[in-house]
Amino acid sequence: MNIETQCLHEGYTPENGGPGVVPIVQSTTYRFDSTEHIARLFDMPTEYMYSRFANPTCDAVEKKIAALEGGVGAMLTTSGQAASLLAILNLCSAGDSFLAMNSVYGGTVNLFSVTLKRLGIECIWFDGGDSEEEILAKFRPGTKAVFGETLTNPSMQVCDIEKLARAAHAKNVPLIIDNTFATPVLCRPIAWGADIVIHSTSKYLDGHALQIGGVIVDSGNFDWASAYEKTGVFADFVLPDESYHGVKYTEAFGRAAYIIKARMQLMRDFGCYPAAHSAFLLNLGLETLPVRMRQYCANGLRVAEHFRESPLVASVGYPALPGDPYKTLADKYLPDGCSGVISLSMKGGKNAAMKFTDALKLTSREVHVADIRSCVLHPASATHRQLTDEQLQAAGIDGGMIRFSCGLENVEDILADIDQALAAV
Ligand SMILES: *Cc1c(COP(=O)(O)O)cnc(C)c1O
Repeated sequence: MNIETQCLHEGYTPENGGPGVVPIVQSTTYRFDSTEHIARLFDMPTEYMYSRFANPTCDAVEKKIAALEGGVGAMLTTSGQAASLLAILNLCSAGDSFLAMNSVYGGTVNLFSVTLKRLGIECIWFDGGDSEEEILAKFRPGTKAVFGETLTNPSMQVCDIEKLARAAHAKNVPLIIDNTFATPVLCRPIAWGADIVIHSTSKYLDGHALQIGGVIVDSGNFDWASAYEKTGVFADFVLPDESYHGVKYTEAFGRAAYIIKARMQLMRDFGCYPAAHSAFLLNLGLETLPVRMRQYCANGLRVAEHFRESPLVASVGYPALPGDPYKTLADKYLPDGCSGVISLSMKGGKNAAMKFTDALKLTSREVHVADIRSCVLHPASATHRQLTDEQLQAAGIDGGMIRFSCGLENVEDILADIDQALAAV
């Protein structure tokens, strides 16, 4: 099936006479006829038992997203932050490290550099422009993953996924890609060598600013057993898990070892699983995702061109624009467009940036992005406030920078709003 069809039909097939739309199973529990039946479930979780880690509505949406990304399985989480956290914790323990691109989302930078550090897991940063050799040189014993972001929030840099995959695989570790801004409509990182894909579903996947959520997708392509044989790492995928009846994930679950381990160890213990109703709403967003993405890309390109023509704007970051430093990578990884998000920098610095955002009328000032309604944010004073000057610079953010997120309004109305706000500056 093509992606438009997958968005409507994957994950749930109505039974004869059954509901046409995926039902909301709003129940924490599932009833069984015998104690013996429940005991068997604790050995092999083949049915739903408790909605802290699995639920039929969530399951349908997980299957749909796995299909969209070309993975063998997926697990929803209560936020994008929870998805990033669990994606790493499923690989790393205290004493381990992993590599991450320094221009990833600010919340991810904080999670990786502060909170994971407190848990004894070290993030080693690299620049997206580093060569494969430079990235390889950053590995240490116990480095267990490489992490990148397809289209970075908010600096709109394009990640060279194949380069990162080559470096990760040369060291027998998986590549994790945050595909939030691109969505599987614009880029499928697994096809370029990523092993694990995560999303903040709060953005385009939900698309309507209704609920916070995240997802982890397992490509099923990483060979944990072979990596363990070569290097001795990932023993917890191959050897018995004492917290789970001695199950050996690779032996019992084959290509789905990573995502089942994430569910059975981490989701069981942390319980950051969404409610069925949230999954139901996310599914509504997914159904129209391809149609919406096309319009976001069209509006984004038009608005980016418009900003570039303004004498008040110092620079525009939108990789689909001719002359953008990431245009070549965008042509390769994002041939159908670069979403509705634009990063721009005002010539007048912080003052001009704040004046411009305050003067917008149709476009709302929000701590949100990638929404159906146009919205705007000044990252240096908001989402990226906690970063140091060096971290801000690494993430490509300066005081005059604005993150403009084009919604699905008629583009002429968005442009008129921008023009009256620029006139106010
Ligand atoms: C928003 C965002 C996150 C965090 O997701 P939440 O759902 O807000 O927790 C992670 N990565 C990217 C690229 C994001 O834009």
